[in-house]
Amino acid sequence: MNLQSLTLTQARDLLDNRRLTSRQLTDYYLQRLEKYDSYINSSLLIDYEGASRAADLADHRLAHGEGGGVLGIPYIIKDNILTKGLKTTAGSKMLANYVAPYDATVVSRLKQAGAVLLAKANLDEFALGSSTENSAFGPTHNPYNLSMVPGGSSGGSAAALAADFCTFSLGSDTGGSVRHPASLCGVVGYRPSYGAISRHGLVAMSSSLDAIGVLARSAVDVATVMAIIAGPDKYDATASLVLEAPAKVNPIINWSKIKIGWPAEYFSSGLNSEVAEHLINIKNILSDKGATIVPVNLPLTSYGVSAYAVINMAEVSSNLARFDGLRYGHWVGGSNLLETYLNNRKDGFGAEVKRRLMLGTYFLSAGEGESYYKQAQTVKTIIAREFKEVFTQVDYLLTPATPTVAFPLGVKVNDPLSLYLEDSLLTPASLAHLPAVAIPIGWNLAGLPIGGQLIGKRGEDYNMLMVAQAIQDVINITPQLLPWE
Ligand code: GLN
Repeated sequence: MNLQSLTLTQARDLLDNRRLTSRQLTDYYLQRLEKYDSYINSSLLIDYEGASRAADLADHRLAHGEGGGVLGIPYIIKDNILTKGLKTTAGSKMLANYVAPYDATVVSRLKQAGAVLLAKANLDEFALGSSTENSAFGPTHNPYNLSMVPGGSSGGSAAALAADFCTFSLGSDTGGSVRHPASLCGVVGYRPSYGAISRHGLVAMSSSLDAIGVLARSAVDVATVMAIIAGPDKYDATASLVLEAPAKVNPIINWSKIKIGWPAEYFSSGLNSEVAEHLINIKNILSDKGATIVPVNLPLTSYGVSAYAVINMAEVSSNLARFDGLRYGHWVGGSNLLETYLNNRKDGFGAEVKRRLMLGTYFLSAGEGESYYKQAQTVKTIIAREFKEVFTQVDYLLTPATPTVAFPLGVKVNDPLSLYLEDSLLTPASLAHLPAVAIPIGWNLAGLPIGGQLIGKRGEDYNMLMVAQAIQDVINITPQLLPWE
């Protein structure tokens, strides 16, 4: 049977109809990982034994009449999400040998539902970056062109999916880290409304913005995973948003009832022309289908990245203070306590992490807090207000996900500002705590994926995913071959 690029929905059907076993599907991915991941470096750890065991267990449950959901479905998870008994490195030398004593809530929910964990995905160190080049364990390569970046920071999760190493994957999105690599790797990448998915067991980075997100081949697949992992959790007080999962995932949309906002600020001069053309083409298709397209304005969009940077760095400096090597983490030691702290942190953290720790500490220092952190919070509030106002006129916003397509490895790694700008179209939704999803919308002339973004109202995650699916169905892009296969 040809198992190539199965969606979760297709795999579900085959498993439930006994035409495929979870073990067969799991072996298919494990063999591909073994054969091809040396080209991609999507995964830091492949759990051959654990995955095989979980698959057999799922097959046992399937044989006893269970089915549906994610039972028997293999997935890969970003390595800043804790997995009991397996290393969780956060892409850092600091945690190179750290084994978590418990599972993150998303992991335990998926385990209970019978999903099969295959591997831990590469990422930018502590999820700080937009190219996965900040990983302490080497960069991940874009499956569609190995000399290009996969985006970041969940680059391993996106590349693994594009390379057909799993059926879905999890990442984390603080300022765009699920949507960015999804856009560059041609897969669907969803950031939930803030508070919809528990972050218990996610290595905290910027707590007022961090979210766990889902990557898959289709938006409907994302919704299936959401139905398992979302919902309140006694271990995370911020996971307080209750979303009503639709009884049946039905992507048939009455377009004449849908109002889609087209925000001018997302189509400014920095936008690559091929990306812009693809978006305009989709806008026209949706309009032909009967959707109402409404030009709208979100004037503070261009301040998103700066506000994000200040908030992010300030919170990073405080969250990462715990990594000092004393209780856990990289140990060098020294002749006194201060020297020990300095040595452990100097040797354990990479350059981008250090840059943010220093800037973040400065932004929070006495006398500067007012002029940086507080102002950034004000901008955040105004951006949220702008969205709220626009959402009184429209149901969704359609934008590009990233200003350009994948870029060559190495070209931006020493230019942090240009990497921060990669997220210019993604940070505003993060700051406003809105759900947003990157959708593959086509290919540029060089055969690299182009991503669009749909942003929804807070709490309207499932409806947004259904519209995203309907857009996928309408444009129905043709798959591209993987050059290394
Ligand atoms: N690329 C952004 C950054 O470097 C976003 C990171 C994220 O969402 N985890 O901070």
